[in-house]
Amino acid sequence: MSVLIFIDQSEGHIKKASFEAAAYGSALAKQLNTTANALVLGTVSDNLAQLGNYGVSKVYQIQNDNLNHVDALVYAKVISGAVQQLNASVLVFSHNQTGKAVAPSVAIQLKAGLVTGACALPTTDNDFVVKKTVFSGKAFAYVKITSAIKVITINPNSFGMQTAEGSATIEQLTVDVPAPSVKVVATNKVSGEVPLTEADIVVSGGRGLKGPENWGIVEDLAHTLHAATACSRPVADAHWRPHHEHVGQTGVQIAPNLYIAIGISGAIQHLAGVNRSKTIVVINKDPEAPFFKAADYGIVGDAFEVVPKLTAAIKAM
Ligand code: FAD
Repeated sequence: MSVLIFIDQSEGHIKKASFEAAAYGSALAKQLNTTANALVLGTVSDNLAQLGNYGVSKVYQIQNDNLNHVDALVYAKVISGAVQQLNASVLVFSHNQTGKAVAPSVAIQLKAGLVTGACALPTTDNDFVVKKTVFSGKAFAYVKITSAIKVITINPNSFGMQTAEGSATIEQLTVDVPAPSVKVVATNKVSGEVPLTEADIVVSGGRGLKGPENWGIVEDLAHTLHAATACSRPVADAHWRPHHEHVGQTGVQIAPNLYIAIGISGAIQHLAGVNRSKTIVVINKDPEAPFFKAADYGIVGDAFEVVPKLTAAIKAM
């Protein structure tokens, strides 16, 4: 058995979630007594050798202009080709947008069993059983993969970033790259300073903020913490904030290290998108707000008083 980790990149930079996928794949390889290698598609400006710090021995790179933007069909064909060429038996993706789009197609092409949203290393003694979250993080399922090739997507922030000193070697790989089915003609950045799904800290606002004109206090706190901004669904539905900031069951699902919820009640559909956050801070003027039950820290108070004071205190640190 050998483990191959897919490294997701955007505009030449390795996505944060890929480092965790690398650490997970390397720990799995150790468990299987084999080596962990990585696969990256397209042109990358980041230093790929640094993946050695996450236990990766060798990084295989396939450079082709058609791979600089994610086209799920093209990626699936190329990754499947690489897995066959390298004789890999376990393929690890991050459970992010690219992983969710590409891993199922790869699994079909390789006739591989697929487990999405893994949150722990599989058991490998007798059976290959992967623990995964289900029902929006409310329960766990244990899924046995019986196929020769196995594909796993790992939930961001569920395993950690174990590091050790190391440097990976880099090797160029040649695999047929099909013509893309779509062509990217322009890219407009819509998110703020920090992309929501990559952010370590997220500051999120709800209907308690009363209107879009009051978002300055959210943005100021987010800017101070170098955080991304998010919102509840009614806020996006009312066009106070753009839809790509809406988190929850029907929006973006995130797992930052710190999630600060301001004026959000904590409905189950909202929690479904944020309850994998490592630490949750809730600011709400209603002490009975359901969000306090899911919070690690809670501040009962008026957001318009609490948030500016919090921001000023952080700035003064
Ligand atoms: P509210 O429920 O109106 O809560 C506002 C909160 O602000 C209250 O707790 C109030 O005490 C507090 N507040 C008011 N004034 C202040 C103040 N001055 N200072 C501090 N606190 C204050 N919602 C999502 O967010 N994401 C989803 O993905 C999602 N998907 C859904 C899918 C379905 C099928 C359905 C039916 C609903 C979905 N919802 C989703 C909606 C969800 O049920 C809630 O209605 C929504 O999350 C509530 O948003 P809110 O907390 O911003 O607003």
